[in-house]
Amino acid sequence: MSEMEYHPPYLDLYCSGELGDRARRLEQMLSSCTICPLDCRVNRLENEIARCYSGKKAIVSSYCAHFGEEPALVGTNGVGNIFFGNCNLRCVYCQNYEISQRYKEERKNEVSTLRLAEMMIELQDEKKCHAIGFVSPTHFAPQMVSALEVACSMGLHIPIIYNTNAYDSVEVLKLLDGIVDIYLPDIKYSEEQAGYDYSGVKDYVYHSRNALKEMYRQMGSELLYGEDGLVKRGLVIRHLVLPNEMAGSDGTLKMIASELSPNITLSVMSQYYPTNRVTETNAERSDRILLINRRIREREYEKVLELLDELGFENGWAQEFESQDYYKPDFTNRLEPFTK
Ligand code: SF4
Repeated sequence: MSEMEYHPPYLDLYCSGELGDRARRLEQMLSSCTICPLDCRVNRLENEIARCYSGKKAIVSSYCAHFGEEPALVGTNGVGNIFFGNCNLRCVYCQNYEISQRYKEERKNEVSTLRLAEMMIELQDEKKCHAIGFVSPTHFAPQMVSALEVACSMGLHIPIIYNTNAYDSVEVLKLLDGIVDIYLPDIKYSEEQAGYDYSGVKDYVYHSRNALKEMYRQMGSELLYGEDGLVKRGLVIRHLVLPNEMAGSDGTLKMIASELSPNITLSVMSQYYPTNRVTETNAERSDRILLINRRIREREYEKVLELLDELGFENGWAQEFESQDYYKPDFTNRLEPFTK
């Protein structure tokens, strides 16, 4: 852990012209979209729509100073979160389903590149946020980078957080190297069947693990802290514990410990509650859906925390078990450091 006045590398990429080059390469990928592992190959530049229901322009559902993320990101003024609309996954329990799965309605919230850049500047200069947090950025990675280029010309200088469901393409992540300051992936499952049943993709584990490895390659396990005591650069892996071990917490944590590092910073969440299609009364629900139609039990959560200890994880945060009683849908700021 080291302290310094932080200078985001994206500013150097902007000055050298590399940021613009990366933006153009990413935009080009929209012409036969391979931005996420689904590889739909529609021409989003012509607003052809596929799985994520998103065309040429970014969709922003809301943006604000947000105080629900991990304490080392939030500080006193919050993270300047920009919540993108729609998503490449279709999680039956999505806690943000009102913005991620109301596809047609969300398209009304399309914004220009300039407007997206202005939002970043507003969050930095008016709200005094410590970082810009792009929430569900995967399907809008090109638009995000194009707007970042404009925002640099307007004086943006705070870290960029990529807050993702981890179903990301390695090719795109390589193009984000030096652009993203903090990766915040939520790793959801360790069995492909769970990814199919609950998020509608057959290869979540394969792609999310490759994505994690690429993020780790870029960042390593150490977090860089600024003089204000907040994280400026690095990788923080989130994991939401599901009932009946449906998140495969055991497999995910063991993979992180063995294939990445037990020094990685984790953020373990107890806040799961059944919502969205899990609770639809008129839906015919499979046994798999019924397995996640309750909150997690205290013992289930304790087992995950015990495993953290066994595997030697020492860095990060675990939500209090009780947070599930009052959480909807953000983190609370009552995260506790792991205790040894
Ligand atoms: S970003 Fe959207 S259109 Fe592109 S591959 Fe993914 S789901 Fe398909």
